[in-house]
Amino acid sequence: MSIQDSTPPERGDFIREIVAADLRDGRHEQVVTRFPPEPNGYLHIGHAKSIALNFGIAQEFGGRCHLRFDDTNPTKEEQEYVDSIQADVRWLGFDWGEHLYFASDYFEQLHEWAVCLIQAGKAYVDDLSADEIREHRGTFTEPGRDSPWRDRPVEESLDLFGRMRSGEFPDGARVLRAKIDMAAPNINLRDPALYRILHAAHPRTGNKWCIYPMYDFAHGQSDAIEGVTHSICTLEFEDHRPLYDWLIENLPVPSRPRQIEFARLNFTYTVLSKRFLLRLVEERHVRGWDDPRMPTIAGLRRRGFPAEGIRDLVDMVGVGKANSVVEVEMLEHAVRGVLNRTALRRFAVLRPLKLVIENYPEGQTEEMDAVNNPEDASAGSRKLPFTRELWIEREDFMEDPPKKFFRLAPGREVRLRYAYFVTCNEVVKDAAGEIVELRCTYDPATRGGDAPDGRKPKATLHWISADHAIPAEVRLYDHLFSRPDPGAEGDLFDDLSPDSEEVLEGCLVEPALAEVPLGETVQFERLGYFCPDLDSAPGQLVFNRTLGLRDTWAKVQAQGRRSV
Ligand code: ATP
Ligand code: MG
Repeated sequence: MSIQDSTPPERGDFIREIVAADLRDGRHEQVVTRFPPEPNGYLHIGHAKSIALNFGIAQEFGGRCHLRFDDTNPTKEEQEYVDSIQADVRWLGFDWGEHLYFASDYFEQLHEWAVCLIQAGKAYVDDLSADEIREHRGTFTEPGRDSPWRDRPVEESLDLFGRMRSGEFPDGARVLRAKIDMAAPNINLRDPALYRILHAAHPRTGNKWCIYPMYDFAHGQSDAIEGVTHSICTLEFEDHRPLYDWLIENLPVPSRPRQIEFARLNFTYTVLSKRFLLRLVEERHVRGWDDPRMPTIAGLRRRGFPAEGIRDLVDMVGVGKANSVVEVEMLEHAVRGVLNRTALRRFAVLRPLKLVIENYPEGQTEEMDAVNNPEDASAGSRKLPFTRELWIEREDFMEDPPKKFFRLAPGREVRLRYAYFVTCNEVVKDAAGEIVELRCTYDPATRGGDAPDGRKPKATLHWISADHAIPAEVRLYDHLFSRPDPGAEGDLFDDLSPDSEEVLEGCLVEPALAEVPLGETVQFERLGYFCPDLDSAPGQLVFNRTLGLRDTWAKVQAQGRRSV
């Protein structure tokens, strides 16, 4: 065995152990996984876990991962979702190469197999209505009852199934059911439906079909057609595994995939359900699927979260069998970890207050050297223009400061970062008594931010030259929900936070911020991480707050918040 062979994969979890053992024991030559989204909505961060797991395993073990659309329900599925899902998987950093598939490509084969089952006496057409079938199904404690159509002759089922396909019957009139065991303790084995009538055009197959396979009939068989070795899904499918295996065993499929379940990813202050997310969009609680408050991949991207941060989060959480809720602060921590390393530092003033330096020459501009990223010397520096009139953050000044306020106040000296020390001498107010301007003096000997006599102001402020400031709109984002466990005590919609978005107009930013490309997140010094929004245009800048600077994950952990 070479050294490489004996090196365990970087990430160890029970699924990777199974895959490693299967390869070691020669059960498969190559691992094949798949990510199987239903194109009925945008991907969310929960999907990122499944994507990272499926594509990650294929990468680590030298196999391949398919992207397969589970497009078996034409009433809910749209091309927009197919496109967004592909864009999001790519953005997350994964690539399916030539292995892009659609369950609808297998409709003909699936139909053939359904006919095989009928011929073998293992499936029948049932004339009961959906309600009657439900009544016959029984409960967890009571067995189900046989449908009166369960033992109809094979020929009759074949005939009816053919007529279902040719469009003779209305929606819901009949279904094709597997004939397994109405007394099975596992309800999924009580003659589950395999095909239903649905007179609906399909985005890919058009009007060719008016019967569509159920998820359980399509999924495992699609896996088998593609030669998937490990069909990795979330825990809610654990009870479907006996059916998955039954179908594989009873059909002449070309390969035998194995289903393995893992725990879903969930977060505090977050709801991950496409059905609910769709309602948020349709009822206009948000700006769209890619609203920066949405837990969708498109939303997180628009919010300024780097893909690397999302991948790091997935690694931190790991893969297990127990469903749990991850603190959203952990995701934020992972994202800050990446941004702290990579984000360029910039100056922006969200709520501007004018500062005039009375002893600074009018009309003079100095270029101050400002470091782009103290964590990354290769990011270099930029020139910040400094002039007599500046803008500072309104909350960096208090006329009558309490004890612990160390920033600017009358008679007090502070450092303007990369520039000079300034002292406030006078406060100018308007007729309404609102502070509109600070009159200050500067110490020319402190250029660059250090005093020759070694004195050190207690505060360092950011600033922007009034002559060079560029106006911008800044959108401040916070959790979409006001409680960590939305919906726990009532309607989800009542828990939507009224403060999840605050739009600030009249913000001012340094010249370098006029040119931040879409997709890049920067740090506004002392304020947080921000990125240009899709709505941004030259001359009409819009920035989103990605996150504040303070990492609260350690605190949340220490408190052991476990309310959910
Ligand atoms: P939702 O229930 O959130 O609407 P879904 O499970 O219906 O999502 P699919 O398109 O069927 O969405 O999911 C594609 C794959 O992603 C499936 O294998 C599913 O198990 C996985 N997946 C979905 N949600 C999560 C999650 N929260 N954590 C991990 N994997 C997930
Ligand atoms: Mg689903």
